[in-house]
Amino acid sequence: MILPGLIDAHVHLRAPGGEHKEDFRSGTRAALAGGFTTVLAMPNTRPPLVSVDAFRIAQKLANSQSLCDVFLYAGASADHIDELPRLANRAVALKIYMDDTYGPLKVRGLGTLERIFASWPENKLICLHAEEESVAVGVALAAVTRKNVHFCHISRREEIEMIAFAKSEGLPVTCEVTPHHLFLTYEDGQRLGPYGDMRPRLQTQDDVDALWEHINTTIDIISSDHAPHTREEKGPWPHFNEQTLWDNLEYEQYNITASTAFSYDRFWRPVAEDVKQSEPPEYTLHRSTPPGVPGLESTLPLMLTAAAQKRLTYERLVELLCANPRRIFNLPEQHDTWVEVDEKLSYTFPLHPLQTKCGWSPFEGMRLIGAVQSVTLRGRKVVKDGLVLEQPESDIN
Ligand SMILES: [Zn+2]
Repeated sequence: MILPGLIDAHVHLRAPGGEHKEDFRSGTRAALAGGFTTVLAMPNTRPPLVSVDAFRIAQKLANSQSLCDVFLYAGASADHIDELPRLANRAVALKIYMDDTYGPLKVRGLGTLERIFASWPENKLICLHAEEESVAVGVALAAVTRKNVHFCHISRREEIEMIAFAKSEGLPVTCEVTPHHLFLTYEDGQRLGPYGDMRPRLQTQDDVDALWEHINTTIDIISSDHAPHTREEKGPWPHFNEQTLWDNLEYEQYNITASTAFSYDRFWRPVAEDVKQSEPPEYTLHRSTPPGVPGLESTLPLMLTAAAQKRLTYERLVELLCANPRRIFNLPEQHDTWVEVDEKLSYTFPLHPLQTKCGWSPFEGMRLIGAVQSVTLRGRKVVKDGLVLEQPESDIN
């Protein structure tokens, strides 16, 4: 089956500042291996992309290292609101963190949010990390400002239902969900430990069911929220073997390594202190490891599996992974670009060694149906037999 070059509208490629986790070269290799020829990279780097100077440095890195098309988000920060109009000329969209995530980019206060909205032009999207009550705030801001608001990685029933209502009222809102919120629950998170910990967290089966109920209607985009961290940062891999991997078995508790605690202390302690106030006690175990899981190489195989199981059509899959993100983010067409998949191939994930620098996936050991065979980008074959080519070979002439 031939698909168009896919778009991942939400990835963290970690450069600059986190190159031991991922960089533009390894991240775009992972993208191509996963069937993505365009990725939109998030601004919570070190330094974060909240100023034109920081943005320029990241753009230069992206231009020189990327193997597929990369567009960068600008980040919103209360201290750099005056930079937003100039950032808007360069960035694909604005990201506002209203709730806790990896990194210190959190915006607080309605007044600050209103100033940020006012400083961003109408023709570019505002993307929100909003959970629970923050979704209502985002809907209200869309209603008041009439600016296009996109909700990232929606994960709960109440959230998707509120966005469905906002859409039915004609408000300019769109939303995305991730495969981990479609395929994993809180119980999987218990089993996976730090390797199943991300923001937003994994939710209940009822929340997962709600997302699937809206797969053909409210949900506009599937994006991976590819957020790699190294095994050293995440701690010991949980003890389970492949036979028991997808059963809800008890697993051993983890010891947080000194090096993990050290790097965490230095950079993310303020965020962790916030999380501590609200989190249920069962999460205490994972507090010292950074949240986030990779997803560039598992997203398409998972969605192909869902299509093979008739949970959505292949046409809808292409809308969610290509046509809709292109329209919503106003991205240019890529000519002579396509992805060849074997939609019937059944195998244990991953089929090939992972390209992401972190080298692991929460979906390891899962039986999946459908895999990338080749990718052609602007007439050049960049993936052949499922493997990313070191030297892209010309497919034409
Ligand atoms: Zn993210």
